[in-house]
Amino acid sequence: MDKILRINMGADGGPAINAEPVGDYAGSGGRGLTSAIVSKEVPPLCHALGEDNKLVIAPGMLSGSTAAMSGRLSVGCKSPLTGGIKEANAGGQPSQMLGRLGYAAIVLEGLPQGDALYKVFINKDGVEISDAGGLKGLGNYDTVDKMKAEHGEKISCISIGQAGEMKLAGASIACTDMELRPTRHAGRGGVGAVMGSKGVKVIVIDDAGMKMRQPQDPDAFKEANKVWVAGLRKHGLTGEALPSYGTNALTNVINEAGAYPTNNFQKGQFEGASNISGETQAELEDARGGKGASTHGCHRGCIIRCSGTFYDKNGQYVTKQPEYETVWAHGGNCGIDDLDAIAQIDRLDDDFGLDTIEMGATIGVAMEAGLAEFGDAQAAINLVKEVGKGTPLGRILGSGAAVTGKAYGIERVPVVKGQSMPAYDPRTVQGIGVTYATTPMGADHTAGYSVTANILSVGGTVDALKPEGQIELARNLQIATAAVDATGMCLFVAFAVLDQLETFQALIDMINAFYGLSLTADDVTELGKSILKNEREFNFAAGFTSKDDRLPDYFKKEKLPPHNITFGVTDEELDQVFNW
Ligand code: SF4
Repeated sequence: MDKILRINMGADGGPAINAEPVGDYAGSGGRGLTSAIVSKEVPPLCHALGEDNKLVIAPGMLSGSTAAMSGRLSVGCKSPLTGGIKEANAGGQPSQMLGRLGYAAIVLEGLPQGDALYKVFINKDGVEISDAGGLKGLGNYDTVDKMKAEHGEKISCISIGQAGEMKLAGASIACTDMELRPTRHAGRGGVGAVMGSKGVKVIVIDDAGMKMRQPQDPDAFKEANKVWVAGLRKHGLTGEALPSYGTNALTNVINEAGAYPTNNFQKGQFEGASNISGETQAELEDARGGKGASTHGCHRGCIIRCSGTFYDKNGQYVTKQPEYETVWAHGGNCGIDDLDAIAQIDRLDDDFGLDTIEMGATIGVAMEAGLAEFGDAQAAINLVKEVGKGTPLGRILGSGAAVTGKAYGIERVPVVKGQSMPAYDPRTVQGIGVTYATTPMGADHTAGYSVTANILSVGGTVDALKPEGQIELARNLQIATAAVDATGMCLFVAFAVLDQLETFQALIDMINAFYGLSLTADDVTELGKSILKNEREFNFAAGFTSKDDRLPDYFKKEKLPPHNITFGVTDEELDQVFNW
C-alpha cells in the first residue's frame, strides 16, 4: 500500500485523478491514517459538506494480507452529524481489495459542479471516473445490481443510497459483503452525506490479477498468524458465542443486566427481549434458511464469522442477520419485539444508506414526541420510508435524533456531540457512559467498549453500577481501540486480545513480521494515544471544549429502572480521561 489515490471532484473540466506516493503517511493505516489526513489537511472550522472537507477511505495496516480478521475499512472526515472528526468502520470486501491494489487510502476532495454524480472504477490498470447520472435516486441494492451487470461478480462496491445523495446527517456508506450485497456499513457520523457532497455514488473495486500483500518476514508472519487464529478460536466469545448467535447474543445478557435501553432509554429492561434475542434469531434463521445460514464472515479471512442471513417466512432473502445494535435500535428502543419487522427496517436502512443506530434512536425520539406509539412496528417502518422518499418529515428524521428532538421539542434525546447512543444505558453500564461522553467520535460504543469489564468479565471486572474504576477502564480501552482500528482488524478480536496475552502478542508479532518492525506493547499504546491526540486536537480547533464531553443532563437526574440509579461519574472525573 504505497500510494494514495486523490480525486479532486472540483477540478476544472471534471474530476482529476492523482495517485501519489504515500509519503509522510507511510506505515499508517485504517483509523490511524484517516485521522492523520483529516487532522492535517481539513480545516477544523470548515463546513462538513463544503469543498474543504475530505472523505478519506483507508484499509487497515494488515488489510490485503493473509492475516485473519484484517478486512476492516476506515472512513474518515469532518462529520456533518457531530461537527467533529469522524472515523466510521465497516466490514465487507473493499478493504482487502484496496489493500491488494496497493492503495493506502482514497481521498475525495473538493466539490463537483452542480449536481453531477460519478462512478469511480479502480482495477490493476488504474482509475476511471464516469458519469453516474443513471444511478441517481437508486438505493444501494439497485446500485450494486447495476454494477454487477456492468462489471461482473468479482468486484466489491462502496456506495451511497438516497440518504447520502440527500446529504442527510444520518447517511451511511455501504460496503458489499462476500455475497456482493451492500450490507456492511460505515454507519456513524453521516459519512454518507460527505460522499454525497463529493458527488460520488459508487466506487467499484476489481482486484483481479493482484496478489496478497506479502510480509517482510513470511515465516514469522505465518507463525504469528497461526497463534492468532488459535487464540481467537480458543476464546469463548470469539470461538463460540459470536459464531453461534452473532452479536445479537448480547440481547439477553444486556437485558438481564438491566442495561437494555427500552422505549427511548426510559427503562433498562424490555419485556419482549426474548422474542428478539440472538438465540431466537438463530433458530428462526436456521428454520427458514437451512443450517449454516446463521454463520459466515462478512469478508474473506474472517474466522469469527458473526454474520448471517435473514430470510422471510417464504425463505426469501430479506437482509443480512441484523446485528445486536440494529435489533436493539429498531427493537427494544422502540418497544418492538418482532424480528421480521426489525429485519425489514434493517433492509430499508441498508438500501437508503442510513446508520441503523442513529435511525433507531431517532424513531425512539419520534415515538416519545408522539409521532407513533412505542411498539408500533408498522409506524416505525413508515417513518423510515419517509426518509427514503425525502419528504420534509423524512429529511428531519434522516438528520438524526438531535435534529428530530429539536424539531419536536423533546428533552430526552440520547446523544453526545450530536450522535446517538448505542445499545447500553450509561446509567447501568457506567464505563460505557464514560466512553460515550469523552470519545472524540460522539456517543460510540466501539470507541472504548467498557461493556467488556462492566458486564462480560473480559479483561477484568469493574462494577457496572458504580463510578469507581470507569475512567481508567474507558481510557485504556479507547487507547487500545484506536490502535486496533489502525490495523484493519475487526474490533471483535479485542475480546481475545484483552483476555489472552499470547493473542495480543501474536497481533504485535504479525505487524512486526509484516513491516519488518520491532514494536512492543508500549509502542502499540503510544500509537493509540497519538491517534486520539490528533482527533482531540481537531475537535478543539473545531470549537469543542470539555463541556462537550458530557452526557445529557437527564442521565444524571432520571433514575433507570430496574436498578433505579443515575450516571454517577462526575464532570471532574470525566475531564481526567485523557490525562495520561
Ligand atoms: S467477526 Fe463479524 S463483523 Fe467481524 S469481520 Fe467477522 S463477520 Fe465481520
